Amino acid sequence: MKEALETLREEALGRLDHCISEPEIDHLRVEYLGRKGKLTFLLRGLREIPPEERPQVGDQLNRLRSFLEEQIEIRQKELKTRAKERILREERVDITLPGSRWEQGRMHPITLVMDEIVDVFLGMGFEIARGPDIEDDYHNFEALNMPKDHPARDMQDTFFVSQDRLLRTHTSPVQVRVMESRKPPLQIIAPGAVYRHDDDSTHSPMFHQVEGFMVDHHIAFTDLKGVLTHFLRHIFREETGVRFRPSFFPFTEPSAEIDIQCLLCGGKGLTVDQQNCRVCKGSGWLEILGAGMIDPQVFRFVGYDPERFSGFAFGMGVERIAMLKFGIDDIRLFFQNDMRFLRQFT
Ligand SMILES: [Zn+2]
Repeated sequence: MKEALETLREEALGRLDHCISEPEIDHLRVEYLGRKGKLTFLLRGLREIPPEERPQVGDQLNRLRSFLEEQIEIRQKELKTRAKERILREERVDITLPGSRWEQGRMHPITLVMDEIVDVFLGMGFEIARGPDIEDDYHNFEALNMPKDHPARDMQDTFFVSQDRLLRTHTSPVQVRVMESRKPPLQIIAPGAVYRHDDDSTHSPMFHQVEGFMVDHHIAFTDLKGVLTHFLRHIFREETGVRFRPSFFPFTEPSAEIDIQCLLCGGKGLTVDQQNCRVCKGSGWLEILGAGMIDPQVFRFVGYDPERFSGFAFGMGVERIAMLKFGIDDIRLFFQNDMRFLRQFT
C-alpha cells in the first residue's frame, strides 16, 4: 500500500509539472482527487488492510490528498502569474519611442502671395469676382477690343479647346463678364489661373493673374496711380519707388506699364562691386504691372455709355511678384511639387 501511495504521488507530481493550462490542471484534479479518482480508489482498498494498520495508512492517504491539493493550487497560481507576465511583456508600450507625427500642411507660396494681393485690394473696398477657365473667343479677345485679325492676339500664345473655345490667356474676360451683368459703380478684382503656350525659366504654361478694375463717373488716371502705388508699397516696401511708363494694350487707352525700383540693388542698377545687377539687368527697375484707362470701345461692347462712365483696369502676374518677393529665379519651381522647396514658405 505504501508503495502504491508513493507511485501515485510521483506520477501526479510529474504530470502536474507538464500542465501548461488551467483546463489541464482541472482534468488532473478530477483524475486523481475526484470521486472516481485514483486516490479514492486506493481509499477503498483500505478494507483489505489489517485493522491495526488502517489508521496509519488512512492518515498517509489524507496527507497525500492535502499535499496534492496544495501542489495543484501552487501550480495554478504559477500559471496565472506567467500568463500575466506574458501579457505585460507582449503588450508593453515603449514610451521612449518617437511618437507618430501629424504632418502639418502649408500654403503654397503662390496661394500665400495671391491671398496677400487680394487682401490689399479688399482693404480698399474691392470685391472678388471669378470667371471660367475655359473661355469663348468673344470674352477673351473680341469684347476686349481684339477682333479676329488683331495683331495683339499673337502676343498671347493661346491653347484652343475648339474653334471658338480656349483656355483663357488672361483674367481680363472676367471684367467683361462682370460689366455685362452689372452696372457701375464697380470695384472688382479677379484672381485666377491663366494659360499660355510658353515654357521656360520665367514662363509657365499655367500661371496666375490678378485682374482688377474700377468703373464709375469721373474715374481718372490719378485714381489708377493712387490705387496701384498704395498696393505696390504694401506688397513690397513702403519706400519703394514706383514708375509709370507709357505702353500699349488693346483694351486700355492710355495704357501704362508700372515698374518698381529693383528690390536687390535699390534702383542703382549696380551691385556693391560695380557689376550690373542680375535681377534688373542693370536698369534699376522691375516691370510689375500692366494697366490703363478702360478703352471706350470695351464699354460699348458691354453696353456702358463711355460719355458717362470711365474706369481703369490693371493686371499682374502672381508668379512674377512671388519670384521677386522670395528671390526665386525659376518659375518652374512653383509647380514641381518638391517639398524641400515648398516647406520654406510660411
Ligand atoms: Zn537691380
